[in-house]
Amino acid sequence: VQFGDRVVDRDEKQKLVGGVFSSVARRYDLMNDLMSGGMHRLWKDRFVACVQPRPGEKILDMAGGTGDIAFRMARKGAHVTVSDINPDMLAVGMERAETLDDLPLAWQVENAEKLTFEDNSFDAYTIAFGIRNVTDIPTALREAHRVLKRGGRFFCLEFSTSEWPGFGKAYEVYSENVIPKVGKAVADDEESYQYLVESIRRFPRMHEFEAMIADAGFVQTSHRPILGGLVAIHSGWKI
Ligand code: SAM
Repeated sequence: VQFGDRVVDRDEKQKLVGGVFSSVARRYDLMNDLMSGGMHRLWKDRFVACVQPRPGEKILDMAGGTGDIAFRMARKGAHVTVSDINPDMLAVGMERAETLDDLPLAWQVENAEKLTFEDNSFDAYTIAFGIRNVTDIPTALREAHRVLKRGGRFFCLEFSTSEWPGFGKAYEVYSENVIPKVGKAVADDEESYQYLVESIRRFPRMHEFEAMIADAGFVQTSHRPILGGLVAIHSGWKI
């Protein structure tokens, strides 16, 4: 499998991705603001508006990292389990949660490809800027389907490819030149940010990814482009 511009075996990719997020965990929230000009906050608000979390619902926020999506959903009264393969990212999230009001949150280390939850456990599954880091995406999508109840909803927020003429290219130039430099200046970690840019570039296009979601068993799949598809919200239902 691909890791940045190298080919590595699956276990090695998981380890390398682990290293990337352990290394960026402390600076992760600041870097998101810097690199997106604060826009990631709007994308996340829009994502959660699509999910429409309801009070008392059980939601799994996979690859939940430092909790940005989970906090938004828990404020609406949903019971959110925040899961991530990386304990360092979750630790930063748990610290942040302590400074917030009492939110209905549980934190659990989990690999998206091999969840420990029982079948039919959740009303919704969310994954934001996480799926492109997973080594075996079809397996992770099947696991999402398995742990959802019938009538459960799947939502994914992820970078994709903007179909606006010129915009996609401009973003590519920005991301390849600026992001790793900001990563070096702020987090002293050019390599991790190089990986993140590369993983965005390699991620499947919107229609292709929607087909992968359908292949995992979801129905009524859809995708909503943001900024022409630079970012996209994909969704599907388990029936
Ligand atoms: N959802 C958060 C957000 O939007 O701010 C965090 C996104 S962060 C870019 C990606 C997260 O995916 C990291 O915390 C990383 O540890 C996690 N991740 C990578 N591979 C994973 C896997 N196989 N299973 C679960 N989480 C994984």
